[in-house]
Amino acid sequence: MQKRLHGKFMRDVSEVADERSWQWLRAGYLGKGTEGFVFAAQEQALRTRFFRATIQKEAVDPKCRVCGKEVESVGHLASGCSGLAQKEYRRRHDRMGLRVYWELCRKYGVKCADVWYKEVPDEVRVSEDGQVEIWWDRGVETTQKMEHNRPDVTVLNRAAQEWTFVDFSVPWDKNVVLKEDEKVAKYAPLAKEIRKMHRVSTKVVPLVVGCLGVVSSRFVGYLKVLGIPDVLGGMQTCAVIGTTLILNY
Ligand SMILES: [Zn+2]
Repeated sequence: MQKRLHGKFMRDVSEVADERSWQWLRAGYLGKGTEGFVFAAQEQALRTRFFRATIQKEAVDPKCRVCGKEVESVGHLASGCSGLAQKEYRRRHDRMGLRVYWELCRKYGVKCADVWYKEVPDEVRVSEDGQVEIWWDRGVETTQKMEHNRPDVTVLNRAAQEWTFVDFSVPWDKNVVLKEDEKVAKYAPLAKEIRKMHRVSTKVVPLVVGCLGVVSSRFVGYLKVLGIPDVLGGMQTCAVIGTTLILNY
């Protein structure tokens, strides 16, 4: 942590990272090569254009080769590039969310694939008893126009008279807590409107894993709110593997 560059990641996340941020490593799910690559990414020791221009003093433009707008650091490529947002970040985000979607389907007796990674979500699925609907990336209709009305997953539970809005995010690791707060604030107006329109209770659940694995101490609590098993490790693996694919791209 005393190293200026190599210690930066640990210093940056020390305030927000729960002990379980390192589960992906302790559990040994990933190959040694991948583990080493993630460490290099955490320590900003990949040969990005910024690294080559500043550390290695090469005559290269430090600007990002994808968007051409910002400096090409590891953080920029892993979570901040507008040129990677639509496809690459989306794929990582959806993969991580798929696990939660599948667990919710299982919980409520909604038809789903036999294993989570074979799941292909539908916009709307209804439980066998007709009491629960699970939506994937579907706009919520409201009488008043809402700025944010499209959570990643919506669980509409008629029996419990409760709507749950779930949103996923894979930001730069030191921003995980900020992102959780941001998501809760973002969907608060929608939740309020739905309470008014349908006379139900509502919950907003942000599920945020840093792109190099960091989770906040609130994460497990959010899984408990959804009443699904502790799939932190699985989601974290999706986020970390997704990031290594993007950085190797
Ligand atoms: Zn870029």
